[in-house]
Amino acid sequence: MSRQLDQLYRLQDRIRFVQQREKERNTVPSDLADVDSAHREKVEAVERLRARLKQAEAELHKAELELADHQEKQRKFQATLRSVQSSREYGAVLNEIDGAEKLVRATEERVLALEEEIEAAQRDLDTREASLPKEIEEHEQKLSGWRTAQREIDQELESARAEIRDLEATIPPRERAEFQRLLEKKGGLAIVRVVSGSCAACHMKVRPHALQTLKAGLEIITCDRCKRILYYEPQTP
Ligand SMILES: [Zn+2]
Repeated sequence: MSRQLDQLYRLQDRIRFVQQREKERNTVPSDLADVDSAHREKVEAVERLRARLKQAEAELHKAELELADHQEKQRKFQATLRSVQSSREYGAVLNEIDGAEKLVRATEERVLALEEEIEAAQRDLDTREASLPKEIEEHEQKLSGWRTAQREIDQELESARAEIRDLEATIPPRERAEFQRLLEKKGGLAIVRVVSGSCAACHMKVRPHALQTLKAGLEIITCDRCKRILYYEPQTP
């Protein structure tokens, strides 16, 4: 019986260890979290810039086509003006020319603004892209300590999980299932040490007779109050 309790105690210990280390493994340290988000911002800025540049180039292409279209219309109206007969018709065509000119000017301004934007964006992008590889390398350097720590945790987790599998294999299925249920019900603490004659979880005093039975290792004793399995280690103070 006491051997089985040893195994349950160790099993719980390993399960708790795995849970805690997994959490550590998946939490970026706070000092690195800032570094990490600053780096991601820089990378994302380059991506945004590239996307905007592509979009602006498409807009420019479209604007240039529109400009050619408006200029063509302007020329047509000017040609028409030379062949008009009446002054009424003349006024109407002048109006058309006026409208076309306005469109040409507005589109020319749009083309110019886009060209300027593209030039500035390209300069910005070139600068950022030139420093990006170094930036990435420096960032990986900063994270390398953390990556090493993660790999070490992975190794610890692997051996702890192997031990859990071995321990579980030695415990009869029914007891294992019962223990699992108790673990879930008791927040991961199903078996607790007796410290100074009391339950280490809820501090309830263990009755003398129960304590004797426990020390003799004859049967499973649970705490009167919290119902956890009690575990006695002779060296426990
Ligand atoms: Zn208790």
